[in-house]
Amino acid sequence: MTNATNNSRRQFLRNAGVLMATSALAANAIAAGQERVEKGRKEPPKPGDHFDVIVIGGGMAGLTAARDCALRGMKTLVLEARNRIGGRTFTSEYGGKHVELGGTWIHWSQGFVWNEVTRYGLGITESPGAAADTTAWITDGKLKSAPSMEIWPQIGKAMADYCNVDEAGGRTVFPRPYEPFLARDKVREWDRLSLMQRLEQMKISREMRDLLNVQLTINCHNDPSQGAFIDMLRWWSLGDYDMFLMFDKLARYKIAEGTGALAHAIIGDGDAQLLLSTPVKAVATQGGRSVVTTAKGDSYSAGAVICAVPQNVLSSIAFTPGLSAQKVKAAQAGHTGTGYKCYIHIKQKIGKWIGMAPYPSPITQMWTEQERDDGTLLVCFGPPGGLDQNDEEQVQLAVRQLIPGAEVVAVFGYEWTVDPYSKGTWCWYRPGMLSDSLEALRTAEGPIHFASADSANGWRGFIDGAIQSGVETAHNVFKQLNGGKA
Ligand SMILES: Cc1cc2nc3c(=O)[nH]c(=O)nc-3n(C[C@H](O)[C@H](O)[C@H](O)COP(=O)(O)OP(=O)(O)OC[C@H]3O[C@@H](n4cnc5c(N)ncnc54)[C@H](O)[C@@H]3O)c2cc1C
Repeated sequence: MTNATNNSRRQFLRNAGVLMATSALAANAIAAGQERVEKGRKEPPKPGDHFDVIVIGGGMAGLTAARDCALRGMKTLVLEARNRIGGRTFTSEYGGKHVELGGTWIHWSQGFVWNEVTRYGLGITESPGAAADTTAWITDGKLKSAPSMEIWPQIGKAMADYCNVDEAGGRTVFPRPYEPFLARDKVREWDRLSLMQRLEQMKISREMRDLLNVQLTINCHNDPSQGAFIDMLRWWSLGDYDMFLMFDKLARYKIAEGTGALAHAIIGDGDAQLLLSTPVKAVATQGGRSVVTTAKGDSYSAGAVICAVPQNVLSSIAFTPGLSAQKVKAAQAGHTGTGYKCYIHIKQKIGKWIGMAPYPSPITQMWTEQERDDGTLLVCFGPPGGLDQNDEEQVQLAVRQLIPGAEVVAVFGYEWTVDPYSKGTWCWYRPGMLSDSLEALRTAEGPIHFASADSANGWRGFIDGAIQSGVETAHNVFKQLNGGKA
């Protein structure tokens, strides 16, 4: 390879969110994705062009669906509203190191994403604070601290009790979590309860109530009275009914090259065309042919459409004929994930640390994400409106509630809930939404198919669920266009 090619490939890798040395397999996969993005910029499709499939949305679900359609020989176009791919995953950089502003952690028990990591030769790295030495927490307004191995087994026991609604540790509700309605009657029995209502049923100490409240608040990324208890049973089942295993799956292992690298590797595989900065505003279907119209007024037609936008923005696209009443209702209600995630750099070196405080504290949970020469980078989560990241004084006060004397050097994050193309973070259903809406959200309407992490059957609300949904939807579209044969 010449020096010029080497340099341009390095530049590609940087753009794709890759700062570190990576395997040759991964480097080539990522560079192929960046080349596809560039091609879309230089040689955009012409308005009026016809495709086998148009995919609306270039997040993990849409990209996977587009790749799988293209690899099956379908002429595929992705229309993405933002000027980048990846959707609710977004790799950025701070002080020469990766930071993930959106979806971050994955796990080998999440088979769909793990398959992709293996396929493209990506590496894995760990968040130090996910296996913290020290835990600090606020209960009854007071700050306490202990070695993690003293307090987490107690939280784990309380969570096991919280989920034990059937004297079988919750196992009878989701005996196989990828088949959410296998025990439909049990699901119905628990689906109308909120996280908070279930907490109120428990006879536990104030301290344990506060510690459980923290877990429920971060999980539903909202006030726990808004989130469905059933989704906690789902996570518990996916987490193998164990607090430590569940936490490892939720918040410990990351893609070393960044989620941006994965997004690029996926779209670089296959020859789907991609148009960035192209929000779709309408989809009209007549006689088995759909016309997709962008905000700019350009139209493209297709035999099938995959709508891969988040649940919370689905109602921003005008469908003719209109979507089913149940889809519209679920889109309008939205999932509860509307809190914040940000990074806070403090001067102090606090080692492998995790801190937490119950709803409505400004910070629900934060932990060491990078141990740096110039202090500690904390990753921080809280409820909607909990913390104004632009108000340094407020951030400093909030951090000092958990780390007295901490000096904040920098704060940054991404406002997912304000962004019109996500209007939220990860998916957690409201009471009743699972029984009322999941199947409706997944159901195709004529040639319009739906793919999203927000309606996945397995790890709903996760990168893994997005990829699962993309794989399944591409398969269904192939079947539709191939006269019912898969
Ligand atoms: C802060 C945060 C932390 C998270 N942490 C984790 C984690 O640690 N692990 C994990 O597995 N998951 C995590 N998640 C969840 C995970 O990132 C998402 O569930 C997943 O990435 C969603 O993928 P998706 O393709 O279904 O949707 P999205 O990624 O939202 O993709 C949808 C795409 O559609 C586009 N779009 C929207 N409207 C239009 C339109 N009108 N026209 C064209 N395009 C449109 C959007 O721009 C976007 O690119 C997190 C999410 C957030 C926000």
